Amino acid sequence: MRNSEGETQLSRREAAIAMRAAVRQSAQLALGDGGGPAAPSRYTIIIPLIGGGALVYHTYTQAFARLDAADLAVWDRVEQGEMDVSDPALAPFLSGGFVVSAARDERAEVARQLDRARFDPSSMILTIAPTMGCNFACAYCFQGLDKPTGRMSPETTDALCDYVADKAEGLRHLHVTWYGGEPLMNRPAIYALSDRMIESCRENNCGYSAFIVTNGYFLDLTTAQELFRRGVRTAQVTLDGSANAHDARRHLLSGKPTYQRICDNLGEVVEHTDMHIAIRVNVDTTNGDDVLGLLDDLKAKGFAGRRNFAVYFAPVEAITDACASCDPDSFAKTDYGQWEADLYRAAFERGLCALPQPPVFHGNCGAVRKNGLVVLPDGALHKCWDTVQTPSLAIGNVRDVTAAEASPRSQAWLQWSPFDNPVCSECPILPSCAGACAFKFVHREQTHGEAGGLPCPSWKFNLAERLFLRAEKMGVVSPDDWDPVLSPTRADAALKTGARHTFASMDAAGAPALLPAE
Ligand code: SF4
Ligand code: SF4
Repeated sequence: MRNSEGETQLSRREAAIAMRAAVRQSAQLALGDGGGPAAPSRYTIIIPLIGGGALVYHTYTQAFARLDAADLAVWDRVEQGEMDVSDPALAPFLSGGFVVSAARDERAEVARQLDRARFDPSSMILTIAPTMGCNFACAYCFQGLDKPTGRMSPETTDALCDYVADKAEGLRHLHVTWYGGEPLMNRPAIYALSDRMIESCRENNCGYSAFIVTNGYFLDLTTAQELFRRGVRTAQVTLDGSANAHDARRHLLSGKPTYQRICDNLGEVVEHTDMHIAIRVNVDTTNGDDVLGLLDDLKAKGFAGRRNFAVYFAPVEAITDACASCDPDSFAKTDYGQWEADLYRAAFERGLCALPQPPVFHGNCGAVRKNGLVVLPDGALHKCWDTVQTPSLAIGNVRDVTAAEASPRSQAWLQWSPFDNPVCSECPILPSCAGACAFKFVHREQTHGEAGGLPCPSWKFNLAERLFLRAEKMGVVSPDDWDPVLSPTRADAALKTGARHTFASMDAAGAPALLPAE
């Protein structure tokens, strides 16, 4: 794990980041490694390279390093149970979290950290839909063509603001996501609600931040500036291919195209504001070939290398009954994982995204947090974005949040834990994934097909490929170091990232009792 200067072979900056993370996480994981037998951490991933070395990554500390042959010999001795944690040769392995005391219960420690984040009483995530109306007619949208038109009433607005005013007193931070429908079809409500919630936070010394999921059609410069003034720091906008492919899938209700106007808007926003634009590219078998065309077009339009612009990719998933029609076009998860890894390489090389960095607790969304609510225009409360099209899955109404939070349906979300499922519990990337998406467990009767029903995220299928890209672009490895047989995430028909979920495993003991629609 050393270079000629006796230091880690990753760059100094990367090493510093890795070590900071390790120190931070070690402090959080209160158990020490003072003495006794050493063991490989259950959250260490080894990626063998040509010539006998390896990359090593820890999915909780995020420490990342290159091992040489001597390091791997030490690693082998750890695997054989031949080393003590007090051995100086283990120091770099211990500081990265790659090796731990055999007596340590890492799984319990990570479970405690996840629970601490989920049940933190001092932070809140509110997702607010000021309207479920939308000006688009996307092929895969759960709402279909018959869009609702209702907007949030003054009574619902008042009830929501009263709730936030009460709640802010005990909060350190409130994060709001604007969602819909298309939220910018009701901009006056966003502005008025924001002003009132920000005022409540200010009075209570509570931080405030916001994010918006928008189709981008109304995100002109003036709107972006108004949003930014109200704490919206990031806008997620979807582009599904270059002009023709995007317009075939994401056109107006009238059928008119949207690509050019969205790109014009984004160009202005990126140039004249500090709002970060996250471009989501939905990928399935029908647009896969066109996504490279989109990347080339974004580069040609001047978005490459902008500090406030990045693309990311997501598989189109037939999550629910309402969007089952898109299922035939969904990728199998393994196929998508490989395709996505190639797309990230292409996007990075065009200056359109940062180097891949596996997240920590990716699945810790508002749905599984005690202080997490989705508020619809009529005041209905949900826990999850993906139940909003099914009124019977609401947990209550914003006029009585206490009753909603105490409802059995709400409790099902809070009682769910990835540690109760045997496949997740044994998964070496659980700290990164955290079960990915509780909806697929809590309401699996609502999901369809492999892409929609099985939770493992793309990291499960392309972790090695994306980490190798990170190491390669940092100059730690060269393309020739990739071993086509041993390096891939999926090697010898097995995944380095552990067993994947199947439909049977989703029904395994430990999943919460289903609460079917009433
Ligand atoms: S449970 Fe899944 S679908 Fe629901 S909000 Fe969380 S990540 Fe999204
Ligand atoms: S088994 Fe799949 S869903 Fe569960 S933690 Fe691992 S990657 Fe995530």
